[in-house]
Amino acid sequence: MIIQELHRIQHRHRFLPEEELRRLAERTGTPLCRLQEVASFFPHFKLAAPPAVEVHVCHDMACHQHGCTGLERAVRSALAGEIAAGQVSVRFVSCLGRCDRPVAAVVNDAFLAARTGDQIVAIARDALGGRPPVPDADSGYEPRSNRPWRIDPYGGAGTYDAIRGFAAAPDRQRLINELKAADLRGMGGAGVPAHQKWNDVWKAKGEEKYVICNADESEPGTFKDRELLTRHPHLVLEGVILAGLLTGATRGWIYIRHEYAEQIAIMNAEIRRAESLGACGPRIAGTAMSFPVEVFTSPGGYICGEQSALVEAMEDHRAQPRNKPPQLETNGLHDRPTLVSNVETFAWAPVIALRGGQWYADTGTAGCKGSRLFSISGDVARPGVYELANGTPLRTLIHELCGGTPRPLKAFAPSGPSGGFLPAMLPTAALPRGWEKRAPTDLVEQVATGGGTHLDILDLPLDLQRFRDLGLAIGAGLVVYDESRDMVAEAVNCSQFFRDESCGKCVPCRLGSHKIVEMGEELLSGGLDGPRLEDRRTLVDELTRAMEMTSICGLGMVVGKPFQSALEFFPEDVRRHVAGGGR
Ligand code: SF4
Repeated sequence: MIIQELHRIQHRHRFLPEEELRRLAERTGTPLCRLQEVASFFPHFKLAAPPAVEVHVCHDMACHQHGCTGLERAVRSALAGEIAAGQVSVRFVSCLGRCDRPVAAVVNDAFLAARTGDQIVAIARDALGGRPPVPDADSGYEPRSNRPWRIDPYGGAGTYDAIRGFAAAPDRQRLINELKAADLRGMGGAGVPAHQKWNDVWKAKGEEKYVICNADESEPGTFKDRELLTRHPHLVLEGVILAGLLTGATRGWIYIRHEYAEQIAIMNAEIRRAESLGACGPRIAGTAMSFPVEVFTSPGGYICGEQSALVEAMEDHRAQPRNKPPQLETNGLHDRPTLVSNVETFAWAPVIALRGGQWYADTGTAGCKGSRLFSISGDVARPGVYELANGTPLRTLIHELCGGTPRPLKAFAPSGPSGGFLPAMLPTAALPRGWEKRAPTDLVEQVATGGGTHLDILDLPLDLQRFRDLGLAIGAGLVVYDESRDMVAEAVNCSQFFRDESCGKCVPCRLGSHKIVEMGEELLSGGLDGPRLEDRRTLVDELTRAMEMTSICGLGMVVGKPFQSALEFFPEDVRRHVAGGGR
């Protein structure tokens, strides 16, 4: 695979020298322009020699809340001499997946958690003097959350009992039935029932089939997959192998973002361990069944979280989403039936296989059964990854488990940047007509008790179906904002993320994401008076609608949400930026 070759070349040289690309082109029979086309798409690949020391500072959501802008400026200023001499570069990057320990930074590929500017400067100078930085290990960090989790039936290193059970009595339909009884949904965002996807690939025609675990977790605010890969890699691997055996797949991959170097090493070690236990590779559990699994190191980018873009990257193309149909379950990697699912979805499969679907479904709510993992960051005392039954009120998570907010709650991002911001008291006028008929009775009663005009978001049940019923989105990355935050600035920060991560395939998303940022920055800089603000408000709505209707993938459909929600729900913050005080 060419992308893996590019990783190897860059690992040796720290960039992709022209002569190495020529040699690779000759060796693989690939036109040089094809290599350059792929390499130039991913910011991770460098086509020119970088300075001796590169400092990257995360720019998104929790890191933005916690002062990444000032930190980057301070580091840049302290290293001005080295930057001018071409020895050091300092720049912002998109989310590094460590939102629980902001501000996240990287010095020459070594991840650093919550360091001060002075510490980063000292580390960069050490690196310049030939002393490489020592990364802050995710496995060395004591998580602050509600462990142990029900997801792990082994209570630690797995013995692969679910695979042994399946290999002894390979009843595919039984396992599909258990997934169905569990009502296990895809945890990557779309919430597609797992049994449906597994069944589709099982029933799809083809000698060769594939299973891919999508561990390209790149959405700001989301880091639950990182925790699973770090502390429960056996669950992820066992789920992938179970899926492979059930669907009759011939190969499996765990597709991990390159910034998760520690997790890549952990997963490679776990694959070797599973092979030594006879749970992976040839002759699984002494049977004729085999299923090899390997890690695919992703060149990164939020768009690789879109499953068809991920498949494109694995085929050595630019990671740009495909038009659908056909679906990946019939025409996936190399046009073969392919099951692509999220890390957490696979990780729940072993315990469901061992304890039954009903065991999982016994928690949660009627509309959204079971439990799931939530990453929570921002203004809470104990950010981290929490396992919760679906339907748990947001109040329980924020106040009982996470230790509350430093100051009163102002806003909540229920799906990283993708769902916009909800104000602490959500006007019921903003909910879809007839919401009372679909919402749980106790929520309707609470709203009525409070005067009927607003919904206290702390009463919201964390439940995919309930959120959908209210016209809202919920994902795995929850970000909390207290009253000290300026939601216009936070919205512009989210819009910048989408602008930077748009793959550029659809014109409305490519241009619209820039336009949204421009309008946000115009407001932030005090460049809009009242009438011009109203003009921009209309434009944001029109642009958002156009992108929703014309975008190939979910990114383009949500670009406008953060800014739109800031304009709608935080008039005081908007007014503060309007020239002359606004309306
Ligand atoms: Fe790319 Fe945006 Fe189109 Fe998605 S919507 S395919 S990110 S241009």
